Amino acid sequence: MKTTRFNINTLVRENVLRLKPYSSARDEFKGFTKNMIFLDANENPFENGVNRYPDPQQRNVKSILAEQNGVKQKNILLGNGSDEVLDLIYRAFCEPARDNVITLPPTYGMYKVLADTNNIENREVLLTEDFELNIEAILTSSDRFTKILFICSPNNPTGNIFNSNNIEVLLNSFKGLVVIDEAYIDFSSEQSWLKKLSLYPNLIVTQTLSKAYGLAGIRLGICYASTEIIAILNKIKPPYNVNELTQKRALKGLLNKNDFFNEIGLIIDEKNRLFKELLQIKYIIKIYPSEANFILIKVDDAHKRYNQLLDKGIVIRNRTSQPLCENALRLTIGTPKENETLIKTLKELEL
Ligand code: PMP
Repeated sequence: MKTTRFNINTLVRENVLRLKPYSSARDEFKGFTKNMIFLDANENPFENGVNRYPDPQQRNVKSILAEQNGVKQKNILLGNGSDEVLDLIYRAFCEPARDNVITLPPTYGMYKVLADTNNIENREVLLTEDFELNIEAILTSSDRFTKILFICSPNNPTGNIFNSNNIEVLLNSFKGLVVIDEAYIDFSSEQSWLKKLSLYPNLIVTQTLSKAYGLAGIRLGICYASTEIIAILNKIKPPYNVNELTQKRALKGLLNKNDFFNEIGLIIDEKNRLFKELLQIKYIIKIYPSEANFILIKVDDAHKRYNQLLDKGIVIRNRTSQPLCENALRLTIGTPKENETLIKTLKELEL
């Protein structure tokens, strides 16, 4: 646990601390009862299911998430995908052209794009050769302007989950916010850091409905953090950032645990099957263990194999330009039939 007192206000941008958030019609009037006449938000009055603005605080979705994860609604912020959540975190805490963040390549590319978009210096500290956190290098790279450390666990594209003792060391020693991006946590056998939220005032956990829930199309990202951090992010979030259709579909998805667990089980079984099959293919030099719904492999020539698969109508991700990922390809686990075709095609390329 943090021994020194953590004061979030020292990390927030001054203009964000000072600003008075936009107050929407739906923020100002909350006392819904039946038969009320709403003439406050310049909506079209004729009912069609979506003629009214959505709940800006998405209370129905948050109440399910809170119940399912043992947190309070005020520890949750929802966004238009976790990409929006990540952008809000940058904009709340990082002063353009002054502050910096630390990212840990090879990792999810949006952390860098968002740093560049927000004019924030991105200090890249490579993972070790075995894709673990380089704690010493992370700590020595940070200074008083380092606001955020992004840890993607399970990591995209490497697929591994980071050693929890290492993460704990960073949560205790890193002076800024530690964002643990758990987009792929539902595929992992390890626990989410959500359980430790109350122990670490500098911890932000992001998750998404885009992966295990099979709802990438609705765009719903989740941010869990202390009430203080969530209150700051709420100040700057666009009022209606999660639309009505998304909120409805998210509720349905979150309540349907049967499909959720079935599909995760199927994907993991398929991943294990694919792993075994890949072992037999000679031009695959290495297959990295994965706690996610994809497998990273090292091949003889990534460009050649990528193009060969493309010619056969199979699109994978070529990660060869990423540090430590020379000749690496990332394969998402598909349906059993899709995986069968992938295996057959990969084997044909051996001939
Ligand atoms: N984090 C990671 C690690 C990801 O791989 C992705 C999507 N590829 C995201 C976040 C973005 O997820 P969302 O669809 O919720 O914006």
